[in-house]
Amino acid sequence: MGGIYLHIPYCRQACHYCNFHFSTTLKSMPELVQALTRELSLRQSYLQEPVATIYLGGGTPSLLADEQLALLLAKIRALFTVDAEAEITLEANPEDVSAERAVMWRRLGFNRISLGVQSFDDRVLPLLNRAHSSRQAIEAVHLLAVAGFDNISIDLIYGIPGQDSRQWQRNLEQALALPVRHLSCYALTIEERTAWGHWQRQGRLKAVSEATYEAEYHTMCAMLAQAGFEHYEVSNFARPGYRSRHNQAYWHGAPYLGAGPGAHSYNGSSRQANITNNAIYIRQLSRGLVPATTEHLNKEQQYYEYLLTGLRTDRGIDLSLLEHTFGMAVQPHEAFLKRCVEQGLAKRQNDKFVLTESGWLLADSIIVELMNDKK
Ligand code: SF4
Repeated sequence: MGGIYLHIPYCRQACHYCNFHFSTTLKSMPELVQALTRELSLRQSYLQEPVATIYLGGGTPSLLADEQLALLLAKIRALFTVDAEAEITLEANPEDVSAERAVMWRRLGFNRISLGVQSFDDRVLPLLNRAHSSRQAIEAVHLLAVAGFDNISIDLIYGIPGQDSRQWQRNLEQALALPVRHLSCYALTIEERTAWGHWQRQGRLKAVSEATYEAEYHTMCAMLAQAGFEHYEVSNFARPGYRSRHNQAYWHGAPYLGAGPGAHSYNGSSRQANITNNAIYIRQLSRGLVPATTEHLNKEQQYYEYLLTGLRTDRGIDLSLLEHTFGMAVQPHEAFLKRCVEQGLAKRQNDKFVLTESGWLLADSIIVELMNDKK
């Protein structure tokens, strides 16, 4: 089974922490939708498998008019074999949700909404430069639920300068009081090419300490476990049966087609990256060209991908696969793996090696260790 991702690179305003590809000039949106349909047609043969998941992300896909969303879904259905039970996700921002729109999104075939809440604190939201209030976010979740969305996910951010641990806890309490089945909680990283990166360089903003990150992470793990959520990836939690099928397919190495500026595609042996420039993307597609670069993954890169995706999820890695597929001898790593288990960073069951919640905090350095050992 495969997946389709459409990148909608437009946002109402730039969040101060965000380094995704987006534009706040919405003028070219109709042309971009046309370009997306052309790209899907041109790349129909990229995905041979039936489509199990469709994900409209961004940017802010909920900025698209209902007719534009309908057009994109119709194009996908016309070109690909979409599974009858496919998971079809729309990323939405709270300020775009209304009772009418929620009902329409359901009618169009979306069955999962990923809502960009980030915080329920009205003192923190302006710091992030979000375009919605806490009340709007709460109302949005209720409107979606009333419209029949059973599978609602919300995004939250922790480790925000100016937000103390008690406020973070209140955010989680608020999330748990809502009918949401899935939570994506990201640790804030201050990226260089963002407003916050700029302020950090000027000394106007200071990242929170590692100890604060860790404390907020552990608070989150404990509260969500207590509420019955499964922690299945370092940043993702779901009620049983509500894990994101789209993201899991990425992490399990399933093929996917990504269309739109900045989107990536993967077919098992190579990765394609579309240009991150809306104007050039639209122009090239109008000439029948897909502006993308292709990278063929060598064994070492495939090995890295396997470690990266496996060790960040509760699936873990299969040590026998490391030997048979990637040609890596496990024996020299035994002492290191044993140490991880003794320190409570991992669990080992025969050939399966899975990081614990504490281990996930150190996933990057554990991967580096295993990569270095290979050289
Ligand atoms: S966080 Fe989302 S809404 Fe904000 S600028 Fe980034 S993509 Fe746009």
